[in-house]
Amino acid sequence: MGAQYLIRFDDICPGMNWQVWREIEKILIAADVKPMLAVVPSNQDDKLNVGAPEARFWELVRGWQERGWTVGLHGYQHRYVTRDAGLVGLNDRSEFAGLPAAEQAEKLKQGVDIFREQSVRPEVWIAPGHSFDATTVDVLKSLGIEAISDGFFLSPHRDERGMLWIPQQIWSFRYRPFGMWTVCYHHNPWRTDDLRRFEADVIAYRERITSFAEVTSAPEIRRRSWHDALVSNLLLSTFRSKRWVKSRMRRG
Ligand SMILES: [Zn+2]
Repeated sequence: MGAQYLIRFDDICPGMNWQVWREIEKILIAADVKPMLAVVPSNQDDKLNVGAPEARFWELVRGWQERGWTVGLHGYQHRYVTRDAGLVGLNDRSEFAGLPAAEQAEKLKQGVDIFREQSVRPEVWIAPGHSFDATTVDVLKSLGIEAISDGFFLSPHRDERGMLWIPQQIWSFRYRPFGMWTVCYHHNPWRTDDLRRFEADVIAYRERITSFAEVTSAPEIRRRSWHDALVSNLLLSTFRSKRWVKSRMRRG
């Protein structure tokens, strides 16, 4: 079996870029692809507000979930309050990592409550800035969230708490010979050429694109083992050095 891909869209909130989003929706529906959507329960991050807020936001979220698209809890307010990179180690800023358990529990409960009031199920955890710690994972479990979309792994697996980790490692489609890869998109700044590229990639990779529901319904998901940490360190250091080179080039 070759590589499999999942598609994820982050920063879904009332003030996002709806003009582009409507085009993305058409592409996903035409290809019958079920994405993961990282929904911010109560957005307080001005960077994510690029247009007029959509009054029917939660109605639309319910519609996506009814269609079989996966709704993820994307933090609480999307406000970075610590300089902690957490378990994934990608960015040193977080809404959760490094905070005391009681504070994390309060924020996560508020987020989950907003979803419940709106009759939306939080199916998976998607941390703002990829940053959360072991305390966050414990609290999520206690709130009934049993899956995480994050981490530089090659395949889904369960950790020692029984939490399912579905890796997320790329930000555009790339050929990979094996493994499970989640492609994470942020559509607010997209222009026409980004939409056309996305559409072409979805068509080209269609046979290899799976969904959260298919991944979680697999009969057996293995436990985390020593090679997961090894792969994660390798992929993360490759990603970091590429990012470093890019930032040097931009400065130069
Ligand atoms: Zn985000």
